[in-house]
Parts: sequence; structure tokens; C-alpha cells
Amino acid sequence: MSELEQTLQLLRAALGDAAVLTGAAINPRHHSDWTRHAPACPAALLLPRDTAQVSAALRICNERGQSLVPQGGMTGLAGGAVPRAQDIALSLERLDGIEEIDTAAATMTVRAGTRLERIQQAAAEAGLLFPLDLGARGSCQIGGNIATNAGGNAVIRYGMTRDLVLGLEVVLADGRVLNLLNKMIKNNTGYDLKQCFIGSEGTLGVITRAVLKLAPPPGAQSTALCALPDYAAAVALLRRLQRRLGTPQAYELMWQDFYRLGVSWLETTQAPLAEDYPLYALFDSAATAEALQDALQGAFDDGEVIDAVIAGSQAQARQLWKIREATGEFPNRLQPLNFDVSLPIGRIGDFAERCRQRLDARWPGNRSVYFGHIGDSNLHLTVDCRSLPQPAPILEVEELVYTAVGEMAGSVSAEHGIGLLKREFLHHSVSPEALQVMRQLKLALDPRGILNPGKLFD
Ligand SMILES: Cc1cc2nc3c(=O)[nH]c(=O)nc-3n(C[C@H](O)[C@H](O)[C@H](O)COP(=O)(O)OP(=O)(O)OC[C@H]3O[C@@H](n4cnc5c(N)ncnc54)[C@H](O)[C@@H]3O)c2cc1C
Repeated sequence: MSELEQTLQLLRAALGDAAVLTGAAINPRHHSDWTRHAPACPAALLLPRDTAQVSAALRICNERGQSLVPQGGMTGLAGGAVPRAQDIALSLERLDGIEEIDTAAATMTVRAGTRLERIQQAAAEAGLLFPLDLGARGSCQIGGNIATNAGGNAVIRYGMTRDLVLGLEVVLADGRVLNLLNKMIKNNTGYDLKQCFIGSEGTLGVITRAVLKLAPPPGAQSTALCALPDYAAAVALLRRLQRRLGTPQAYELMWQDFYRLGVSWLETTQAPLAEDYPLYALFDSAATAEALQDALQGAFDDGEVIDAVIAGSQAQARQLWKIREATGEFPNRLQPLNFDVSLPIGRIGDFAERCRQRLDARWPGNRSVYFGHIGDSNLHLTVDCRSLPQPAPILEVEELVYTAVGEMAGSVSAEHGIGLLKREFLHHSVSPEALQVMRQLKLALDPRGILNPGKLFD
């Protein structure tokens, strides 16, 4: 019997036959994540039902030196959950459900495989808000959100996933269960170990349960789209809104090229604002339309805003957001090479200009579009590979963009993580000393290197 067969026999004995699938019994959605990068059918797929089964699976794999890839909803954009043919995939999908909502503490205790949308709905039903929100909400799992430290639409107001997690239960590579479940806001008792696992992309442990922090629900919201003369005005407007009305729920910036693209894909032909302004800010604010109008008048007077529209209804607000959500159409209408970088907010305008100039100088006629959650210092830029010489020089484009990120003290990943796709570029934003400490941490927690090998580092 092969080594693998022996391992599978032990796993079947511990988890039951129905929780250990192989070959054609494995649904192809476990072969790759949203990137469709390097799809491979894993040697087996494990479907544990509880923490004890996850622990048994890890103990067996660790003893036998068998590599294992944790999988959540497979919506990741960095290849973090993509297995190789020799790996065993461990899906958390059967470990789902909400265990408790504590309205006094404003916390929710959930199992790792619970879909984000379900958590949002349960919080709303309890009169509270779980503020993490992203386009993949219907498919991604909270365990995956925590493992990637996901960002999304409301970071400017509520922070990243890291800021929304109070406690965790994690199974270590050797099968030990680490109970870090905690409901307190303040708890200074040595190293805050849960932070090691948040954003670790399945390389340090398997998250099985979490205590989430809930917020009061937002009241009525106003949405506005403003045309701006330059990047400095975008930052000035954000700071004005914060001073006058409190931090917006979302603050998105679109450069002219992105705005034109988004408008051209709308079902209506009518653009809400003319298409020849340099930049457009779209934001949601908890202020009334009157208070918002008042704040915007000041911005007009000071030349920060050239033109603006305030949504008069929820339907109009949704229509304005559709322009920003044109990114959902990218895979269908472009051949997108997407970047998710972050820079100090004051430098994002210069960075976009620098990238555009270098791309244009190297590949005249190429098409790149710029947009982002600039209130979170996060810029997305997309290069349409159809506008490049063929075959598209992807590595060269990546090197060009990430070199500019390094020069401006930015980060090669703002919110999507490193996974497989950005491994080669990590050095542009992480020092050799910091990388060495990351490797030491990995070695301490996973000495046999069974957890998600090849992700984050070689
Ligand atoms: C349409 C769309 C919109 C998106 N928008 C955003 C956005 O705005 N902001 C953003 O940050 N991301 C966004 N994403 C990316 C993605 O949704 C997030 O990264 C999400 O957090 C991944 O969750 P998942 O359950 O799908 O994880 P997966 O893709 O299954 O896994 C991601 C990583 O987490 C690890 N992992 C998964 N579960 C566990 C666990 N229980 N324990 C340990 N490790 C685990 C995997 O090994 C892998 O490394 C978007 C994706 C799509 C498709």
C-alpha cells in the first residue's frame, strides 16, 4: 500500500468514509480558487464536521508528513487555497453555523465554515451589524475572511477583519487545539496569539471558531458622487467630510479612465456627471442629505469639488454604486491583470501617475485603469492584457508596478494576501529581517511544513 493510501486509511478511520473523498468524487471547485490559477485535483478532500475531526486530521497528516491545504469558500484572489496534486485539501464547509449571539457583549460566536452573508443576516436580525462586507459575501466563509484578513467596503469606518475579531479557536499543525476564544475588548495577557493566525493564509493553523465583534446598525445613509480637480482635492474632501460629518461608511475614488469605463457599461446612457473630470469620489455618509449638501457647498467654495450629485433615493444610490462595481464585469469584458496595493494616502496620486507614465513609455497604447478605497490607503489598478503585445508580458508588468510600490514605501498586497501569486514580490514591501522572523514563526508552529506549503514563501 502506498504512503498516501496508508494516510487515507487512517483518515477514514478517524473521520469516516464520507468525509474523505478522492478523484472524481471531489467537486472541481476544490481544484482552484477565484483566480483559476494552476488548477489541480488534490490527492484527497477532507470534510470534517467539528474541531475534534480537524484536530484528528492534522495530527495524522503531521505524523505522516502529509501536506494539507485549508479551503474556505474558494473566493480568494491570491491562489492561497489552490492545492497541488500531492496535497490533501481540508474544506471547512461542514463546520458551519452560528453558535451564539451575545447582545450584551455585542459579539457573535461562529464556526469557521459559516458564510459571511449568513453572519451579516444573523447580526441584522439581532438588531446589530457585522460590518465586514465584500462582493464575495454569498460564497466566502468567515474562516477564509480571517485567514486573509479581508478588507472590503467598510474598512474606513470599521477596520479590517483583524479589527472585528475578538477571539479564535485554532487547530495547530500537530493537532493541538488552541482555545483563544475571548469576548472582552480589553485583555492584555501576554502575546495576543490570535493575531498570528489572522492574515496567515492557512500557513500557521486551521481556524475552527471565532468570536466576532458586532456594531450598532448605521442609521439612514446619504450617497454622493463628486467630480474633483486633482488628487489633493480627494484627500482634502475626505478630511472635510470626517471633520464635518464623521467618517464616511465608504469612500471610493475613480480616475477618469475607470469612470468612463464604468459609465459605458451602465444600462442607462445617461452619465450622472460629465465624463471629462480628472477624478470622481463616491461615498456613503451617515449624515442627512441636508448636512451633506452643506458640507459639499464648502468644498465647492474652496475648489475641492467641481460638480456633484447627491442620490435622491436608494435606487439612485444603487445606480451610482454600479459605476464603481464595474469591476465585477472585468473578467467578462477585459483580460484583467489586477493589482491590489497600498501606499500612504498622500502618495497614491503620484503613484498612479508614475505607474501610468512607466507603462505608457514601455508599452505605448496599453490600457490601465485606476480606482480604490483611498480612505484605507488602498489602490487597485487593472491592466487590460489585450492592450499589451502578445503573449502579454505579465511578469514584466508586475515587476514594473511592484518596483514602483517598493520605491514609494507601499505594500504589494493591501487586502487580498500573498498566496501563490505575489510570493515573488513580497520583498518589495517586507524587509529581509521581517521575512526571516516570519519564517521562524512558521517553523515554530509548523516544524514539518505540512500547512499550505508554497504559500507566502517558497
Ligand atoms: C467578487 C469578489 C470580490 C472580492 N472583494 C474583496 C474585497 O473587497 N476585499 C478583500 O479583502 N477580498 C475580496 N475578495 C477576495 C476574497 O473574497 C477574500 O479573500 C475572502 O476573505 C476569502 O474567503 P474564502 O472563504 O473564499 O477563502 P479561500 O479562498 O477558500 O481561502 C483563502 C485563504 O485562506 C485560507 N483559509 C481558508 N479558510 C481557512 C481556515 N478556516 N483556517 C485557516 N486558513 C483558511 C486558505 O488556505 C487560503 O490561503 C473578493 C473576491 C471576489 C470573488
